[in-house]
Amino acid sequence: MKKINFEKLAGIAVSVLLSTATPYKSASADDGHRSRIRHVLLLSVDGFHALDLENCVKGVSGLAPYCPNLGGLAQNGIRYMQASSSKPSDSFPGLLAMITGGTPRSTGVFYDNSYDRSLAGPASPTNDVAPGSCTPGMSGTGTQVLYDETIDNDSTKLDGGGGINPANLPRNPLANCAPVHPHQYVRVNNIFEVARRNGGYTAWSDKHLAYELVNGPSGQGVNDLYNPEIASEVVPLANVPGCTSVVDPTATDDWTSSFENIKCYDKLKVQAIINQINGKTHDGSQSARVPTIFGMNFQAVSVGQKLVQASINATGGYLDALGTPSNPLLGEIQFVDQSIGAMIGELHKQGLLQSTLVIVSAKHGQARSIQRAREKSAIQLLRHWAISSCGKRQRIVLHCYGLRIRPKRQVRRQQSQGQAIRVSAKFLSATRSRSYIMIL
Ligand SMILES: [Zn+2]
Repeated sequence: MKKINFEKLAGIAVSVLLSTATPYKSASADDGHRSRIRHVLLLSVDGFHALDLENCVKGVSGLAPYCPNLGGLAQNGIRYMQASSSKPSDSFPGLLAMITGGTPRSTGVFYDNSYDRSLAGPASPTNDVAPGSCTPGMSGTGTQVLYDETIDNDSTKLDGGGGINPANLPRNPLANCAPVHPHQYVRVNNIFEVARRNGGYTAWSDKHLAYELVNGPSGQGVNDLYNPEIASEVVPLANVPGCTSVVDPTATDDWTSSFENIKCYDKLKVQAIINQINGKTHDGSQSARVPTIFGMNFQAVSVGQKLVQASINATGGYLDALGTPSNPLLGEIQFVDQSIGAMIGELHKQGLLQSTLVIVSAKHGQARSIQRAREKSAIQLLRHWAISSCGKRQRIVLHCYGLRIRPKRQVRRQQSQGQAIRVSAKFLSATRSRSYIMIL
């Protein structure tokens, strides 16, 4: 068996493909071939690094392997070693890269919080975005473009209060100052729109109402869109086994403030996928086609990487530069693995496994918070982080305060060429060093 160079795995953690498409002869297809793949299930484990996959498949620091389902997929599937995360790397640009193939330059979307010189501010926002004036036909004065939970009618509710509040949206002077919904902000079409135009049926599930973004410029990309608000207050989930009462009542402000509650939140979306595999709509209420393209993102690992939960005195993140997960993070990875196992099991049960392409990936990696990190191990950690977050194997030069590795002049030159990636503030506070990573 070919030895796998995990360092080559990129920030997009891994693409595991089941059922490689064996071409079949077809009388009608122009190319004379026809794939037996009928469905694509796209899963994003937000924050999951190549290193996390390596560790959970093989075990690390005395931990036995802890992701049997992902391990099984990885063994039978294809791994794309040269995948690279979007730049910048975050949920919006990462998701758009996956569903459009576009970079932020082509999609026009760099982040869920950006600035646009051509638009005008919202008329009477209820969030923190500054209001602006808009004159139809006149160039906009420029405005912050914020597409997060603060545009919901009511972000404390799981359904976001039933919709997006247009009063919080930027306005387009060239469209009679109409509010610009997230899907209208994207410049390019996406795979959901392509599938629908060709007779397909599509579904997606994400974390804020703002992810109606996936409808694309047509506004029609996704038939069955399910975006429970992750920023909402934690409530019992009547139809989710194990979550019919609030599991962790010590932290209920939102779903991301508890290592346990976040699993319940993700289970909502896992349940949606299982309903869809069973030929139902996401809530199981009606019959529907099994989607041509469908999927969801997991937030559990991301929370496991970032959260310090004071209410139970537990800290997530990694224990060392090898990426050994803390107990809370370990639990989240195991949860995600079991959930993916449940989906695979359901595909098998419905006889759809051989006709479904399963893609496991990550919209983005995550700067790791590391417990008790010291500068010495921070260097090693930075190397790992850079390799797993910044794409294919590259020569990496670290420039840390007091620990200069390359001549300063050279580093400055590279910085001026825009090649420096400033390590996030969160990471800096963990390592207490002023650091830069140079990607060459
Ligand atoms: Zn994310």
